[in-house]
Amino acid sequence: MMDFVFETTPKLVCEAGAATRLGEMARELGIRRALIVTDAGLVAAGLLEPVEAGFRTAGTVCTLFSDVVADPPEQSVALAVQAARDAGADGVIGVGGGSSLDTAKLVALLAGTPQELPDIYGIGLAKGPRLPLIQVPTTAGTGSEVTPIAIVTTPSSEKKGVVSSLLYPDLAVLDAHLTLGLPPRVTAMTGIDAMVHAIEAYTTRHKKNPLSDSLALRALSLLAGNIRAVIAEGRDVAARAAMLQGSLLAGIAFANAPVGAVHALAYPLGGHFHVPHGLSNALMLGPVLEFNRPAAETLYAELAPAILPGSAFATPAKATDAFLGAMRDLVAAMPMEQRLEQVGVRRDDLPMLAADAMKVQRLLINNPREVSYDDALALYRQAY
Ligand SMILES: [Zn+2]
Repeated sequence: MMDFVFETTPKLVCEAGAATRLGEMARELGIRRALIVTDAGLVAAGLLEPVEAGFRTAGTVCTLFSDVVADPPEQSVALAVQAARDAGADGVIGVGGGSSLDTAKLVALLAGTPQELPDIYGIGLAKGPRLPLIQVPTTAGTGSEVTPIAIVTTPSSEKKGVVSSLLYPDLAVLDAHLTLGLPPRVTAMTGIDAMVHAIEAYTTRHKKNPLSDSLALRALSLLAGNIRAVIAEGRDVAARAAMLQGSLLAGIAFANAPVGAVHALAYPLGGHFHVPHGLSNALMLGPVLEFNRPAAETLYAELAPAILPGSAFATPAKATDAFLGAMRDLVAAMPMEQRLEQVGVRRDDLPMLAADAMKVQRLLINNPREVSYDDALALYRQAY
C-alpha cells in the first residue's frame, strides 16, 4: 500500500438554491461583516441579488468588492485586500470563477497579516492567520473551492502560485442555480479544464493516491456524461449540478495529486495572451496526452471506461486509442477556438512560450514523462 496525505475543504454544501442562505451560513462561522469578492459581470447578471437578500435576512453586514479581473494581477489583489480592511471585514465570501475565488483566498489570508503577496509565492510560506472564508463557484471548472492554491499574474506577465493549506476555505457552497446562465463557450472551456484536472491527477507522477484516483474516475464520468447536455441546454439543472459535482471531485483529486504538463504549458498562454485558463488547457491537451502516451498508456486505458461507459477493450493499447480519440472528438466538438493561431499567438512567440513553460517546474515534475525545452516547443508547434 502507498503512503499518502489527503486534505480538503472541511465542509461542502451541494444543493441547488443554497446560495440564498449564505448570510446564515456566514453567521454560523462567526462572520458579522463580510466582504463578498466577485466580478462586475456577475453583479450585472443579477447573480448577487439573492445572496445579498440572504445577508439582509440573516442580519449580517456585507460589502461587495466587484472589481476582480481575469488572471488577477498583483495590483487587483492589493485593491481587494484594501477593500476588506476599509470595510472592517471579519470574513470573506468568494463568488465567481477561478479568478474571484483565488482573489478571495488571498484577501482572507492577507487582510489580517503583515505579510505581502510577493513574500508568500511558493509552497507553504504563508503564516496566517486568515479570516473565515466561504467559496461559491459559479463555473464548473477550476475546483478552486477545494484547492490550496491561488494563481496571480506578476507585473512581468508570469503566473505565480501561492500554495498553502490556509487557502482551503472553511466552507464551499455549490449551487447549480448560479451556473444556469453560463454561455456555451465558458461552459465548454471550464468543463474541459475540470476534465484535465481529473486526467492529470490520475496520471501524476507524484502523490498519486487511491482517494484521488477514485474521485478522478467519478469526476471524468460525470463531466464526460454531461458536458454535451449543458452546452446544448444551459438551463438543465440536473446536468449543471452533475458538472458542478464533477468539477468538485476533480478539484479534490488534483489538490492531492497535482496536475502536470497540460497546465504547465497552458499558464504562459494566460500570462502573455490572456487566453482563459480552461481554453489554454484545452488547446494544449491533445498534444500533451499523445506525448505522454509512452509513460501513461496503462493509466489512460484505466480512464477509458469513465468516458466511454459500456465499451469493452481487447487490449490496453486499444483502450488508450479509444480514450485519446474520445477526448480529441470531445474537444473538437466544443464551441471555442481550437488552435493557438486563433487566440492571438504568432509562430514567433512559440520559443518564448516554451521558455516560460520550463519555469513551471512545480507542475512539470508531476508529468508522467519528462518535458525538455525542445519537447515543449514541439508541443506548442503541434497546438499551433
Ligand atoms: Zn485548471
